[in-house]
Amino acid sequence: MSEVLALTRELIQRPSITPDDAGCMDILANRLDKHGFTAEWLDFGNTRNLWLRRGRASPLFVFLGHVDVVPPGPLEDWASPPFEPQLRDGKLYGRGAADMKSSLAAITIACTRFVADHSKHKGSLAVLLTSDEEGTASDGIAKVIEVLKARQETIDWCLVGEPSSHARLGDVIRIGRRGSLCGVLHVMGVQGHVAYPDQADNPVHRFAPALVALTQAVWDRGNAFFPPTSFQVSAIHAGAGADNVIPGRLEINFNFRFSSELDAEAIKRRVQSLLDSHGLTYELSWRLSGNPFLTTETELIDAAQAALKEITGDFAKADTGGGTSDGRFIAPTGAQVVELGPINASIHQVNEHVNVDDIELLSLIYQKILIKLLAAPG
Ligand SMILES: [Zn+2]
Repeated sequence: MSEVLALTRELIQRPSITPDDAGCMDILANRLDKHGFTAEWLDFGNTRNLWLRRGRASPLFVFLGHVDVVPPGPLEDWASPPFEPQLRDGKLYGRGAADMKSSLAAITIACTRFVADHSKHKGSLAVLLTSDEEGTASDGIAKVIEVLKARQETIDWCLVGEPSSHARLGDVIRIGRRGSLCGVLHVMGVQGHVAYPDQADNPVHRFAPALVALTQAVWDRGNAFFPPTSFQVSAIHAGAGADNVIPGRLEINFNFRFSSELDAEAIKRRVQSLLDSHGLTYELSWRLSGNPFLTTETELIDAAQAALKEITGDFAKADTGGGTSDGRFIAPTGAQVVELGPINASIHQVNEHVNVDDIELLSLIYQKILIKLLAAPG
């Protein structure tokens, strides 16, 4: 069994349901410790974060990842237990197989192999791990980056091992991400008897035209790097629990995934004026979970593309799709950020899996990127 596959299996056996690290970080710290990485725990609340750095010089290359996984969901729907890695038909099954324990194993082995060949590499090499990416992410990389900033540890290149690939390994890399803005809206009405609608004010009926307007609005047209901004309702609720009562209020949860053509304030203004134009009485609160970011300088992208060409035979499509990732906390520091990892078709699903061959290839790709950016000449 390859070293990378064995390490992936070891990590899947740890049920690190967010924000529990379940010992995953110790496994990785022990491996890297032997190769000259200095481990530093940066824990906040019940979130473990680990900063492993080798060297003090610039430039600083960082692999970023999370050891936590989403809950397995209904166990009876899994063909094999989610925390017992199983090989079937050239695939490795288990929770976190694709998101992102195979990446963590590939990163760790790429680092140890690179350092064995290039003990006097340029700059510094680091691995940054959190146990709270899938949860609220409030005590994870958001806090760690403040510590690093205060010490002026400036990240030049950050490779996030999130599963970016679509149909085959390395066909897509992410060079940015859309922003994400959540809203909670309460539309007020007057509760009453359904038989006496003139004595009540139904907030569902009042909101319906505004909902149509929100879903049909063109927020922007996107640009060369970002698809158009989209509005989605994630939950809607009203009702007093009896079928003869007009509800007194309506709650709607929604989310914007937005391009770099817009900012959060512009979206808020437009939503408020739309709601006002429908004559609604409402309360509205917002949570910005990340601004859009885009890497336009190309050193890291070029290194990733060249490595992919050499290992997989083809370049990747560079896009900004997918959900948010911890890259959103690193990009604002000025770092170049690229996400490159395994195929994401099964992430967060039951029977999550990764192609066994891809695990080793991914490690070779990561190692190649390090050679291109950090190998000393000669
Ligand atoms: Zn992930």
